[in-house]
This record gives sequence, structure tokens and C-alpha cells, in this order.
Amino acid sequence: MSEIIIRVQGVVGRITLSRPQALNALTYDMLTAIEAAIDAWALIDDVKLVIIDAEGDKAFCAGGDIADLYASGTGGDFAFGRQFWRDEYRLNAKLAEFPKPIVSLMQGFTMGGGVGVGCHVSHRVVCENSQIAMPEVGIGLVPDVGGSMILANAPGRLGEYLGVTGTRMNAGDAIFAGFGDVFVPRSAWPGLIEELSETGEIAAIEKAKQPAPPAPISAKQPQIDALFSGETLGDILTDLRNDGGEFAQATLALMKRNSPLSMACAIEMIHRLRGKHDIRRALVLEYRFTYRAMEKGDFLEGIRAAIIDKDRSPKWRHGFAALPAVAVSQMLLPLGKDTLTFTPKESGMRIGFIGLGNMGGPMAANLAKAGHQVAGFDTIDVVIAGVTKAASAEEAAKNADVVITMLPNGKILRAVAAQVIPAMSKGATLVDCSTVDVESARAVAELAEKAGLLAVDAPVSGGIGGATAGTLTFMAGGSDAAFAKAAQLFDIMGQKAVHCGASGAGQAAKICNNMILGVTMIATCEAFALADKLGLDRQKMFDVVSTSSGYSWSMNAYCPAPGIGPTSPADNGYKPGFAAELMLKDLGLSQQAAEAADADTPMGKAALELYRQFVEDEDGKGRDFSAMLPRFEKRHRS
Ligand code: NAD
Repeated sequence: MSEIIIRVQGVVGRITLSRPQALNALTYDMLTAIEAAIDAWALIDDVKLVIIDAEGDKAFCAGGDIADLYASGTGGDFAFGRQFWRDEYRLNAKLAEFPKPIVSLMQGFTMGGGVGVGCHVSHRVVCENSQIAMPEVGIGLVPDVGGSMILANAPGRLGEYLGVTGTRMNAGDAIFAGFGDVFVPRSAWPGLIEELSETGEIAAIEKAKQPAPPAPISAKQPQIDALFSGETLGDILTDLRNDGGEFAQATLALMKRNSPLSMACAIEMIHRLRGKHDIRRALVLEYRFTYRAMEKGDFLEGIRAAIIDKDRSPKWRHGFAALPAVAVSQMLLPLGKDTLTFTPKESGMRIGFIGLGNMGGPMAANLAKAGHQVAGFDTIDVVIAGVTKAASAEEAAKNADVVITMLPNGKILRAVAAQVIPAMSKGATLVDCSTVDVESARAVAELAEKAGLLAVDAPVSGGIGGATAGTLTFMAGGSDAAFAKAAQLFDIMGQKAVHCGASGAGQAAKICNNMILGVTMIATCEAFALADKLGLDRQKMFDVVSTSSGYSWSMNAYCPAPGIGPTSPADNGYKPGFAAELMLKDLGLSQQAAEAADADTPMGKAALELYRQFVEDEDGKGRDFSAMLPRFEKRHRS
């Protein structure tokens, strides 16, 4: 998705809103991508902090993308709007409660939905051209995305004033009112981002900070406090009219454009939330309004007048003089079963899982255990706990949000992809976790993208033990949006996911890793066989090597000698585990890639020859790849 760029830079997870032509207005896809990214980064130790910034000079984010909401609402579909707000508010709460620092860099306009993304995080940076506002009452909404909480806690009656006039705050005002923390000149932002990415030291912000410009709004505070102390919108309007001064008249002129119902509800909400720094409470109250905003409020009329017809003459449901108190309470009544909650509404994603073998079986079981609806298919008859059996690959893929494949090789993957891609819904994601050649990975991704799908190649490391325990490492290739979507599933099936680059990059990382693995396993087995012949006790050999410079995953975590080190396939008669023929396959893939890329890989080549001999001419087929040790035991020098 080009609307948002999500990546890890150094120790920073960075989210850049990249719709500058639309003032970076938030679409539904953007907010779900942000949520998926921060969900993943919360669990990844290497990500120390998050930066949210935006492209262009004019805006950090001028609000939610309301055109889609209008289109669905005027068609009588209120469900999309409700889902948009529900999912947006859940994101706002997550940003406010995120366990690591988040830095927002807010240039230009930050309004509505932009406040929800930028103004609840731990470190809010403003600059020379920052203009922050909550202007929702102008389109028949109320200050939402948690903004009602900030307004309620602004000094004196400033919140009421800002909430019903939508007044724009400069950097000084924003810090004064509680929407920003520090002023850092825009010219210093690239250096700040670089330092944060390299060091992860949040103190860099204090170093870059400069005195904020004056806050003009603070000079108006006494008047605002006097004029906005009424209990209701009606009281406030009476005070403004009675005052008659220049400021009061200018304020009335601003308010005349806005929805009376929205302003009255905004005042009531701010009063209810005053003194409470609980974003969830604010969001629950806001959602009561937005849930009803299309059907019973002024939202659709507000958008029509401001954005669609641009006539700026909205016909609000209620006049200023005739707004019954009951209209406010009706908008803010509890929603019963539809009350905002902070977990995704659906119990989980629909996942099609194809290839339920040694690896795929336990991976699918872990997804089902985490609450996802998993439909599985394999050409052999297998039963996996929690996974519904599909009659075909197409059936497993139909209506799935994500389809995962875990298959023996690239040829089979291409055949399965050709079956499932036409069956998948547009916008769904295809995640291939098999180890295959880079070319097949790229071809499948291209086919999927042409069909309007997101695609990720995400081979794994960690073996059957990792698949069962949910501790695999995923090395992924694909777009940022595709990675963000898949990352939430990687969190369940694994302990680490690295976004290695574009399509095919995951497979490239995997074959390089496994070339090292094949070579080190052979070296470890050779060394044990030599140690035997030298009369060195295997346990002593393990004790030394596992803590010396010869240590490796093959020795320390997957020791090929039975009874030594942690439990491994060697302790189970070399039953795979990771079969020798799969290692032969991976070494073949790395030699194929080395050939294509003109890379000199003599050790990889030698390892390939040894595994070929072992699998094809000796008794290696069907045994674990660590069964190289009994092979070497039997052999002699010549
Ligand atoms: P496996 O042989 O146990 O599983 C593959 C499954 O795919 C089998 O159950 C097979 O019946 C099924 N299958 C084959 N053709 C199919 C088709 N057309 N439609 C549906 N299902 C089909 O292999 P595995 O050990 O689970 O490995 C799977 C992939 O993971 C391989 O690419 C392997 O290289 C990779 N891998 C394995 C390990 C490991 O330790 N086993 C570790 C990392 C990566």
C-alpha cells in the first residue's frame, strides 16, 4: 500500500503516512496497517521505540478519510462507519497505552483522526507550522479519537472553547492545551530521526528541543473561562450574547457554522470527562455519539455541505434556539450490547492453511488455539486440533482473510498457488511459509498481486520444535502492508519476524541461513566422529565446544550426538526433525541461487554433494539431517 510506509530502521519501528496529496487523511486500510504494525512491534525486543511521521509539508494528518463513510452512510449502510470508528478508537487506545515510547512528528495540519494518531503517544513533537485542531462539530460529529479527553483536561474552560469552535492551535497553543509536548524545529527532524533510529535513546528529543513559540490562546484564557463556564451549550450561548464584546462576537460567528447538536454533546462530554485521564472512558463516550451520528445526528448533512456539495449551508436537525436537552442525552445514552470494546469484534481471522505436514500441522494448530478460524487442507488425511478440514485447497482459500501454504517445494507451491489465488477474495493475503527457490516465490507473489491480493514469502527457521512451541523465526519478503497484515499471525506462530525486503527476500535469507546450517551440521558431525577416534568423551567435547568458539545452533540446540545436549532427533533414533532430503533441497536452492547470482560458495557446494550422497546413495533418506553423525562414525579416511 503506498498510503503508508511501515518498516524497521535500526532500533525504531517507523510509520510514515504517505498520502500527502490528501493531507495524509487516514483510510481504514491505513489505520489497520498501523494497528498491525504496533501489535507486532510491541512483541519484538529489537524494536525499542516507534516513530510516526508523515510526508509533505502541509499536514501530518488532516483527519479521517470521510468520503468512504459518506458513500456508505448515504446508501443506508451505517455498519461500515461504526466499524471504522470502533477500529480507529481501538487503535487510539493502543497508541496511548503502548508499552514502549512512541514519538509523533506533527507538521502542518493535525486534525481529527490525526490527533488520534499523533496526540496520545508518549512524545509529541510540534514545529513552526504545526496547526492542531478538533473541528468535528463543523461536520456534525463531536471531538473524538480520544480528543475529548485532552479537551476535558485543558486549562480552565479552554477545552469547551476549542471543542465548539474548532480553533486551530499553533505549536505554543498545542503545548499549552495538552496536545503536544515539545517544540523541535522542522529542520532538526531528520537528524532526530536518525539519532533515535541508531541509539533508541529517547533523550535525543530533549537535546533537540527548543523553547516553544508563544501561545496566543493563553492570553485569551480569562475571557474564555468567563464565557464558557455554563452548564450547557444554551448557557454558553447566553453568556456570549450578553457579553457582546469583540471576542464574544467572533466566537459566536465561528459557532454559528457548526452543528448545534454536536456542540451541545461536545460540551456535555467535556464536562463528564473533566479531571479524568482515562482514554478508554473518553472513547466509549465518543463512540456512543459516532455510532448514532449517521442515523440520528448531523454527520451526513455536515459532510454533504462541507465536502460533497461544498455549499457550506448545512441544514442541521436542530436550530440553536430549539435544541431539546433530551436530544443530547439520546446521543450519549449507553449502547448496551454495542458498547465500544477494545478487542477486535470478530473472534479471529479466517485462515486457509494448505500443507499440514510436520511443520504446517502444528503451525495451524497454534493459529486455531489463538482464536482464529482455520480451514486446513492436505493431500493426505490428517486431523489437526481446532482446524476444520476443507475438501480442497480452493475450499480452504475461499473467503479466507489469509491463506498460508507450507509445502514441500517450489513446483508444488506454484501448482497450489494457481489453484488458490483465483479462489481468494480481493484484498486477502497469501503467505507462503515453505522453503522454495527465489524465482518461484517471486512468481507466486506476482500472480497474487495481479489478482489484487497481498503476498508475503515467509520461510521459517526453528524446526518442528519451534513450530509446535510457537517460537519460529520468520524471514519475510513483500510489501510493508502485506508484512503488517501477516505479522500478527507470525506473532502467534513465532517469536521473531524479520521483514527482509521485497518479494523473494525472505527466501533469499532462508537459503543463506540453511547453507550455513548444512555446513555447520556436517562440520559438527565430522568433529564428533573425529573426537570418537581420538578417544575424546562426547559429553566433554560438547561441554567445551558449546561454550567455545566452535559453538553453533547445530551443536548447542540440535546436537547430533544422542544423549548429549538438549533433546534432539538424535535422541529419537534420528527420526526427523528436519529430514536430510529437505536439507538437500535447501542446499540445492542455495547452489541454484549462487549459480544465478555468480557467487562463489565452495563450502555450500561441498555440503550439497555430501547430502546428495547421503540421501541418494546411502541410508539418509527419511532420516534427520543430523544423522550425518552415524554416517561419519562408519567411515574411514580414504
Ligand atoms: P512435510 O512433508 O511434513 O509437509 C508437507 C505437506 O504438504 C505434506 O503433508 C504433504 O502431504 C502436503 N502437500 C503436498 N502437496 C500438496 C498439495 N498439492 N496440496 C496440499 N498439500 C500438499 O514437510 P515439512 O517438514 O512440514 O516442511 C514443509 C516446508 O517447510 C518445506 O518447504 C520445508 O523445506 C520447510 N521447512 C521445514 C522444516 C522442518 O524442520 N521440517 C524447517 C524449516 C522449513
